[in-house]
Amino acid sequence: MASIQFENISKSFGDTKVLKNINLEIKEGEFLVLIGPSGCGKSTSLRMIAGLENVTSGEILIDGKYVKDVDPSKRDIAMVFQNYALYPHMSIFENMAFGLKLRKVSKQEINQKVNEVAKLLKIESYLDKKPKELSGGQRQRVALGRAIVREPKIFLFDEPLSNLDAKLRQEMRVEIKKLHSLLKTTMVYVTHDQTEALTMGDRIAVMKDGEIVQLDSPQNLYDSPQNQFVASFIGSPQMNFISGEIIELNNQKLFKAKEIELLIDSRHHQFKKLNSGHVTMGLRPEHIYDQYFSEIENDQSKFKAKTVFLENLGASFIAHLEVKGVSLVAQFNRNTKLEIDKDMKVIIDMMQSYFYDIKSGELL
Ligand code: ADP
Ligand code: MG
Repeated sequence: MASIQFENISKSFGDTKVLKNINLEIKEGEFLVLIGPSGCGKSTSLRMIAGLENVTSGEILIDGKYVKDVDPSKRDIAMVFQNYALYPHMSIFENMAFGLKLRKVSKQEINQKVNEVAKLLKIESYLDKKPKELSGGQRQRVALGRAIVREPKIFLFDEPLSNLDAKLRQEMRVEIKKLHSLLKTTMVYVTHDQTEALTMGDRIAVMKDGEIVQLDSPQNLYDSPQNQFVASFIGSPQMNFISGEIIELNNQKLFKAKEIELLIDSRHHQFKKLNSGHVTMGLRPEHIYDQYFSEIENDQSKFKAKTVFLENLGASFIAHLEVKGVSLVAQFNRNTKLEIDKDMKVIIDMMQSYFYDIKSGELL
């Protein structure tokens, strides 16, 4: 187990700045997820921890020690990739044993460790097979097994599940998390999949254009996204963003967009920060309710909504609504009566709304 620290880390490839002054502390035994769109610098960050990529400026510390001069092979780190990188000519046993053999571990100990880990990952019956005889999911287990037998002090995962189908991804996600509880080794896990991030991370660092825009627990990221980028990246279906205007009237504040006027309660979490002017309001689809299933009894929050498009998810519906000229996406449970082009009444739960700066997208 080890802690990892990024101290003012920047990285450029030629003139292209890929990482911009990153500061990050990954705790000993933590499961930290790095998430962000393609090209934001996730893999580069992992490769720098492993020592496979130089740092342009700043320092990386592992267990409080600068590692600039520590060779990758001496860092005691195991990496698991999307493409399993197994040796095709070796058996599964040999693939798993390879790293231990290099370290001159005794045959008896290798046997014991490989068998133990194979059992843990339920691949003990494939040990004599070659990688090509295995399915994608089984190969990924072997790649995991090969990393585990080495008992590294850090595991790095670079989108390890993105080649697997949805069902297998879900299974492996749970297994990797269980492995973490069992081994308690520090794990840094890169993904662009928000479900993986939310379900697996102790903390999640959301990256954009080479910067960490928010580092938080999954629940905090979901409940308090600090900017529009995070708000749109985490949550499915995506949060609604409505541009409009705050109007201060007497002692009241309203949000107005097209024909909608929404009263903002003085207990709203941002009430004191809202001044007259243009803003973007964020509202998650689950915070628009069917009036028949809502306990909010307030005519000012109730609106006529026309259903324009419906996506049936079985247990719920994603409804594309039009409310007084504003397009909104809502998520309703299956008991809601919905029909294309028909009107219904919805409640907009303003207490759950967010207000963002119209230009910077930062939470006001
Ligand atoms: P991510 O893993 O988040 O998709 P990467 O860390 O792989 O992103 O890459 C970040 C940026 O750095 C991308 O624009 C990519 O093209 C660039 N990049 C990565 N590796 C190299 C390299 N060896 N040479 C030049 N550019 C690179
Ligand atoms: Mg990558």
